[in-house]
Amino acid sequence: MRFSYWFPIIPLNIKVEEIVDGIELFRIDNFATKILSKFAGNYEYATFYIIDKSVMFDTGFAWSARSLKKYFNENKNYSIEKIVISHAHEDHYGNAVLMQDFFPDAKVLAHKKAIKEIKYPKQKSFYRYFIFGPDIPIDVEILEDKTISTNHRDLEVVFTPGHTPGHIVLYDKQNRVLLSGDLFISEDVDTQLHEVNGMDWIRSLEDILRLDLDYILDGHGKILKSNECQNSLCRKMEYLKVINMKVVSEIEKGPISEKELLVSVFNDSSLVNKYTMREGWMSAITGGDFSRSHLVRSFIKSYLDR
Ligand SMILES: [Zn+2]
Repeated sequence: MRFSYWFPIIPLNIKVEEIVDGIELFRIDNFATKILSKFAGNYEYATFYIIDKSVMFDTGFAWSARSLKKYFNENKNYSIEKIVISHAHEDHYGNAVLMQDFFPDAKVLAHKKAIKEIKYPKQKSFYRYFIFGPDIPIDVEILEDKTISTNHRDLEVVFTPGHTPGHIVLYDKQNRVLLSGDLFISEDVDTQLHEVNGMDWIRSLEDILRLDLDYILDGHGKILKSNECQNSLCRKMEYLKVINMKVVSEIEKGPISEKELLVSVFNDSSLVNKYTMREGWMSAITGGDFSRSHLVRSFIKSYLDR
């Protein structure tokens, strides 16, 4: 029997909560994902949003298909017209095909820089398959519209590269709500996948900081309200800027190895830091797939390309 027929062994729960009038947050978890989330920085394993019953922003990961099927079979009051993918990571696009089975007229849309990864997904490491599920190629189309409209609101599409090259967020200007995908995640996240670009991320945060915001609805379940929005985004931007400053100050002194650079930039003396060669504990458990080097390398590249 194929692994994918019986996994996950512990069924996943879907919890739906209306955060702002007409915007529903879907949380997907079980006992095992809660433990993983606890260790992975305390943010939710996977979430997505449905706006005014008609626009879906992200879809969760493929292992949750069984639970999603059950939910949408029991709740027939949705009429999804558009499935917008924030970026090309499988915990965000993993159920797009399933959702198209439920809503055959729904288009799956993503930024043009995310299309290749979503339509023709690369073979990923086994741990990613294990925690998120099989990568199902999706007939995704380029999101050309600057605005996505429902019966009740307009959602501005804002290009926010950094976490990945093709990352977008949706902004409800009238209600001052930002659906932020993985733009935020947490203030001090520095272990990232190879496609991260720190300078782009800083610029995207600068763009978003110019918006009026009462709510940030993050792609991993964090809800930021009123002043928290600006403050948290500012702190995140500063965190990245400080890393960049340290990298630049070191490389301007002359040639330096990546290992020496990491020691100098991430110089706290915690045991985890020491035992992971400054790469962060996520690097240790993902075999270097997630690492601080990726972020540091992106800052070096931006410095050399300036
Ligand atoms: Zn992501």
